Amino acid sequence: RSIDWDSLVAALGEIEIIRDPVQVARLSKDYYSYSPLLRADLDDKVADLVVRPANEAEVMKAAAVCVQHRVPVTIRGAGTGNYGQCVPLRGGVVLDLTKLQAVKWVKPGMARVEAGVKLAALDKQTREMGWEIRMAPSTYRTATIGGFIGGGSGGIGSITYGQLRDRGNLLALRVVTMEDEPQVIELRGDDVYKVAHAWGTNGIITELEIPLGPAYPWTELVATFPDFMTAARFGQALGDADGIVKKLICICAAPISDYFAALRTMIPVGSHCALLMVAEPCLEPFGELLKEFGGTICYQKSAQESGKGVAIGEFTWNHTTLHARSVDPSLTYLQTLFPADKDLKLVEHMYHHFGDEVMMHLEFIRVNGVVLPAALQLVRYTTADRLYEIIHYHEDNGAFIANPHTYIIEDGGRKVMDPAQMQFKAMVDPYGLLNPGKIRAWEQQQ
Ligand code: FAD
Repeated sequence: RSIDWDSLVAALGEIEIIRDPVQVARLSKDYYSYSPLLRADLDDKVADLVVRPANEAEVMKAAAVCVQHRVPVTIRGAGTGNYGQCVPLRGGVVLDLTKLQAVKWVKPGMARVEAGVKLAALDKQTREMGWEIRMAPSTYRTATIGGFIGGGSGGIGSITYGQLRDRGNLLALRVVTMEDEPQVIELRGDDVYKVAHAWGTNGIITELEIPLGPAYPWTELVATFPDFMTAARFGQALGDADGIVKKLICICAAPISDYFAALRTMIPVGSHCALLMVAEPCLEPFGELLKEFGGTICYQKSAQESGKGVAIGEFTWNHTTLHARSVDPSLTYLQTLFPADKDLKLVEHMYHHFGDEVMMHLEFIRVNGVVLPAALQLVRYTTADRLYEIIHYHEDNGAFIANPHTYIIEDGGRKVMDPAQMQFKAMVDPYGLLNPGKIRAWEQQQ
């Protein structure tokens, strides 16, 4: 049925609405452009208008109006997702939650915040009390907590705390439903996974409760190594060193660090290097481990200087891809989880097998208590067929690929939809208005 936009806008009353086509187009995009395949699929997708509620009451009103008019609603935080998660496939409303900015409370080890709070802003506040966010994407300066829970997976801190999907890394959330009369539901315990990482298809998160970790003074370091596999093995050893507190272990094969323009004077050209965050009290034992692997420190910034100059975290995770693509836009990337193996045999095999076509970038994380390398390798893109050949080669050899070249939830890291999420969706979004087209199982049952 056709939508009466004027009456929809009138019904929204005082809520901020953006209709300027340039702004609407901008707010219909995220960072899917790292994938040439997603660019082809999503470049022409745009919302009809953007609605920006300022609080939960306005979210409920916006939800009610959109349900009444049967308008698709795509929720947006900062729009830094990489898979077109907040690109509206079928037009309609983009619901921008960045005005929901309240930090409700911070207690030792936990915080309750509104969904639009930026991760770095929250971290700044909790640090004053000696606590910090357990893990953050490298986009922490702009990304919202709601968007991280809705579409992210982990990042800086995952070497200690695992990933968002691990029980304990999200304590509670509050969602507004898309029923004829929207309600607010508070989910705690395992119920939070009915909504977490559902790409905004399962209710509008307005508030969250998250655990915090102790805020160490973090030293940022870059160390170089004689060859890539020594750097990789150092990463594994540092990950396994239980007495050394760390927040980040990123290993880049040459020539990746040559793409880091802002670090060019610090990292020698052609280096195999490690980008690290280590707790200041652990620097001495860290130095001993580094010596064992023949590493050389070429950059070091103390915790007191953090906030000044470059932040090493902003060269890791998918920022590595960002910097590389700013030099060579033809590059794309993979997202891989290598099997736990202290010898890193599969990493070594892939490194030699693909050579310069797939440049190795590892991020060590903890998975069920075991440290292993995730990877966001840079790929010299030629054709879609070749990209899928590379992906299948990894899968056939035992590496798990969370495909970043699809906007379908199941085809990414998930593989199949959790039945509990599908049931919850049927309850909270009976008309299938939230981010339509992203869940294959939902589309098939319609
Ligand atoms: P958005 O992109 O706005 O939204 C993400 C998804 O969540 C969308 O599907 C949206 O509909 C949904 N959503 C947003 N808000 C809500 C809400 N309130 N209720 C329900 N659903 C909601 N990700 C990582 O996990 N780790 C990384 O290290 C990382 N590094 C990155 C580096 C770069 C350079 C880039 C471009 C991206 C990176 N990402 C990373 C992806 C992304 O930045 C993060 O996942 C980020 O947390 C998303 O937050 P956002 O506010 O931008 O969310």
